[in-house]
Amino acid sequence: MLAIVLSRRDFREFDQIVSVYTYEAGKRELLARGIKKITSKHAAHLEPFSVVDVSVVPGKEIDHLTTVQPVEYFPAIRGDFKKSFLAMAMVMITDRLVGTHVPDKGLFRALKTWLEAVSQAPAAAGALADAYVMVILERLGLAPVLEGCVCCGKTFSGIGREALKPGEDTAPGIYFGGGGLACPDCRRLKLAAGEQVMAAGLKEISLLGLLLKGDWRLINNYEFGSGEAERLHDLVYAFALYHSERKLGDWGNLPLEPKF
Ligand SMILES: [Zn+2]
Repeated sequence: MLAIVLSRRDFREFDQIVSVYTYEAGKRELLARGIKKITSKHAAHLEPFSVVDVSVVPGKEIDHLTTVQPVEYFPAIRGDFKKSFLAMAMVMITDRLVGTHVPDKGLFRALKTWLEAVSQAPAAAGALADAYVMVILERLGLAPVLEGCVCCGKTFSGIGREALKPGEDTAPGIYFGGGGLACPDCRRLKLAAGEQVMAAGLKEISLLGLLLKGDWRLINNYEFGSGEAERLHDLVYAFALYHSERKLGDWGNLPLEPKF
């Protein structure tokens, strides 16, 4: 069964539970027995974001991993600090956002082609990770509404026209919160309900649409204006947090290169 390793966690003295995203059966958690012994031949193949071919036998409480064959180890990612940070962050986020036993070949393909694009890119842009997160959320049925206000349905151009009028008690503009765009009126309601709503420009909204296309090469080569990539990342991160039941690390905070 073709699978991408998402994470590993210790379980008992010599065992680990390996979380993988499989092509056929979606996310699976598998018990890898004896993997922590130095003699384990499987340990090296089961590094996060490796593509592997696994065989599995049903267990009483959890299925057991019996064999692992390496398919793709992505040395070009592992040898590059930023690429490997982004890849680790994306498999971790996939693990957090996705439930087990929901097959989605499209999600498998998105992760695999994303890793291939990161591997082949001369340098990986942070926006690649933002795009991946948006594509995954879309696959989980959580795509943001970008055509108009998510609450009242006012069209994008309608909100844009209002944004040109002088403001009253709230700054006029376009806002982005859980679910998608919000007009100034609905933003007030959302804020009153304790929701986080961020100001977004027309440019950021169209860039969100670009991220959702999932064209990794196009996104990696996109030339952002000053501060644009950072503002876009803030929107994507806030959107992912809104939809995640578990804490998500901020993949935009690349740790400084370790000094030797
Ligand atoms: Zn509205």
